[in-house]
Amino acid sequence: MNIHEYQAKEIFGHYGIRVHAGKVVRTAGEAGDAAQALGGRMVIKAQVHAGGRGKAGGIKLADTWEEAREKADGILGLTIKGIPVRKVFVTPAAEIGHEYYLGAILDREARLPMMMVSREGGIDIEEVAAKTPEKIHKLHFDPYHGLRSFQARELAHTIEPDGRKALAIAGVLVKLSQAFLGVHATLAEINPLVELQAGGFLALDAKINLDDSAVAMRSDLEALRDPDMRDDKQDKAREFGLSFIPLEGNIGCVVNGAGLAMATMDLVKHFGGDPANFLDIGGSSSPEKVVTALEIITADPRVQAILFNIFGGITRCDHVAEGIVTALRETKIDLPIVVRLTGTNAERGRKILEESGAAIFAATMEEAVQEAIRQAGLNDKGKRT
Ligand code: GDP
Ligand code: MN
Repeated sequence: MNIHEYQAKEIFGHYGIRVHAGKVVRTAGEAGDAAQALGGRMVIKAQVHAGGRGKAGGIKLADTWEEAREKADGILGLTIKGIPVRKVFVTPAAEIGHEYYLGAILDREARLPMMMVSREGGIDIEEVAAKTPEKIHKLHFDPYHGLRSFQARELAHTIEPDGRKALAIAGVLVKLSQAFLGVHATLAEINPLVELQAGGFLALDAKINLDDSAVAMRSDLEALRDPDMRDDKQDKAREFGLSFIPLEGNIGCVVNGAGLAMATMDLVKHFGGDPANFLDIGGSSSPEKVVTALEIITADPRVQAILFNIFGGITRCDHVAEGIVTALRETKIDLPIVVRLTGTNAERGRKILEESGAAIFAATMEEAVQEAIRQAGLNDKGKRT
């Protein structure tokens, strides 16, 4: 789950990282009031779950409260990476020197958290990572203790030759690793960390992504969810009790039960295909769940075919069939749908689908998977010519 900059700054503040306080507002008028109350030079920052706000015009400096109101008005009318801006953060502007990048991520391959640092922080960090990856220094750290101070000093020295400054950066790194672990983040980033002209280091920006499984267990983290930002597929899936994990392939899979879903994905791989997702519609199912599943899957433009593999137990095959028919009636789905239904009410389900002509049937799991791979291939070729 993503959270906003102002929320991430609050968390960093708790862990002793220096941040500027500010106020989150929803209207230009409130932004003006907040700026007046804070006094001095302000920065107005779009609060959306997207990076690159600066480049998109979502970060503006203002010298007076009137200017703050005007800038907020402009930012509140923006859409950044497809997300409309509904809130801005009004915070004192900093006179900044150098911009550093600090970021902790979960390195799934190494099964360890990892700290990354660069001297080339700021709005072009993606370009630095792509073109000059040697300018980013990385170190894994212990998932229980966090970054040790000797590790932090070693890392800090790769980006700052001045001993005293490096020591100060090392302190921030240790705290960042602790914040990362403390809120079960999959990403905790300060970009940029800036050296203030008056001395000392400040987290000018803050970004945290939380582990959804941790959010499910901790009400303090759940409370950070922004209802304005809930248009993403995962949110929708959760709302309907579906577990959904997007993958890279082109075969959308709808399966009931996690074990069967894994077996289905294995079989798709076995026959040379590539699943677009893991989607478990759960033990009990209703037509609405199936409609939602299809909406989520068809929103991914890479999907070329849809495979249903349903073993009816508590899940009723006729419910699944009704869901498919309803989804096709409500939304136009141009993709081939291959269905394998077995178990409770399979015959009734089959009849419903046959009458509607909505799907291609397969008798066994192997057949269904092979047919879905074939259909995806045909569909893909059809689109390219
Ligand atoms: P992002 O574009 O979404 O990463 O937003 P940031 O908060 O990182 O801001 C982008 C850039 O705006 C920073 O790299 C800074 O160069 C600049 N910026 C942001 N806040 C301030 C500020 O308080 N003072 C100054 N001088 N520049 C700022
Ligand atoms: Mn930034």
